[in-house]
Amino acid sequence: MKVVKFGGSSLADGPHVERAIAIIKEDPERRIIVTSAPGKRSADDVKVTDLLIAYATAVLHRDDYAEIREKIIRRYFEIAAFFDLPQKALQFIPQTITSLAETAFPNADYLMAAFKATGERLNAFLLAALLNHQGITAQFIDPKEAGIIVSDQLGPNNATVLPQTYSHLARFWESREVLVIPGFYGYTPNGEVATFSRGGSDITGAIIARGVAAECYENFTDVDAIYAANPTVVSHPRPIKEMTYREMRELAYAGFSVFHDEALIPAIAGKIPVIVKNTNAPQRPGTRIIPATNFKPQTTITGVACARNFSALYLHKYLLNKEVGVTLKILKILSAHGISYEHMPSGIDDLTIITRTSQLTPALRQQIALDIQAAVQPDHLEWIDDYAIIMVVGEGMHDRIGTTNGVTTALAQANVAIHMINQGASRISIMVGVRASDADRGTAAIYNYFEKEDA
Ligand code: ASP
Repeated sequence: MKVVKFGGSSLADGPHVERAIAIIKEDPERRIIVTSAPGKRSADDVKVTDLLIAYATAVLHRDDYAEIREKIIRRYFEIAAFFDLPQKALQFIPQTITSLAETAFPNADYLMAAFKATGERLNAFLLAALLNHQGITAQFIDPKEAGIIVSDQLGPNNATVLPQTYSHLARFWESREVLVIPGFYGYTPNGEVATFSRGGSDITGAIIARGVAAECYENFTDVDAIYAANPTVVSHPRPIKEMTYREMRELAYAGFSVFHDEALIPAIAGKIPVIVKNTNAPQRPGTRIIPATNFKPQTTITGVACARNFSALYLHKYLLNKEVGVTLKILKILSAHGISYEHMPSGIDDLTIITRTSQLTPALRQQIALDIQAAVQPDHLEWIDDYAIIMVVGEGMHDRIGTTNGVTTALAQANVAIHMINQGASRISIMVGVRASDADRGTAAIYNYFEKEDA
């Protein structure tokens, strides 16, 4: 059996849902369908998840929410109307949305999670009704019934799956009818709704695919494939036909947003091939994400990604290499302030600690610098904010000599200064820290260099 997930834009309106239903009909192995909430119908549209966040915020602030609530209900009714589904069959939708505002939650975070989850829940309910209306026997299954149990240790809006989920899901392997399960959320052991991070329906799909040991996990979205570089940075980048899990993970981490980076973990554990396809052109091959065994790289680099929003704490101290415990002291300070770090390239007298800018406030930044100054007494300490990371990824780099040379040559030709360069321990990635304003130029230069070389 195949697990199929449709993204928000694939379920945004009647014509898209019609395409999704045709895709389900086309292959009887497509028996578990995971939904997102209706996404954007045009560039300036608003996702239902964002409408629900606005609704939750209005309820929390005791503002008037009638208009926003009606807007949300209308999104579902418009889809139903496209299929001439009588509104009477859909009373569950306005009832559920209205009752949210009257329900008591443990706190504002749980309220927010429950509101957000309603977007996918109602879309799954609607899709099941539409499939039945079209003559395909389908059943709506809520994550509670499916047994998707999550931890809310990092908060109810940042859930992580608990292992018992997989044994709960195994029974659905036998299902003969189509099951429609909402993505994005599960239930805590206490029975509260908790959502994954944004874009988390991908995660649900991967969890279910692993739980039922699916033959593959098809992820339907609005692009033909995952491209080797961001199409807004490089014109007509090469579509990636096949890539490994770890390549996808490194690229997703650095900004390839087509597939959620956390969604790879269950797929890897279950060795489930992931296939990213376009709902609007399902005949196109898409991108297959597979284990590294038997993968034969066709190109030196598979993709180049660029992530901004990093801040780097640069520290210089003579004889840093000889001093015992310096890094420990610094990491303890970061930990005491609740800051995680992403990378820590070091030299004999220098250390750079790269963190996500979103974790920092100006006050926190200053306090961390003061604490480190007091504990380590560096010769020089500074925060570099204008920081971006270019990630060059490819299984093909593993056995090839001279890839770093290609990266640095390309950057030199594009006049991009390198702040830091680090070959990933996996030997399939090279990470380059550059000024944020140079990031796009550098990414394009590296991509073009290797495309030319591989041609
Ligand atoms: N609807 C959720 C979001 O917008 C989850 C998803 O679409 O995957 O983040």
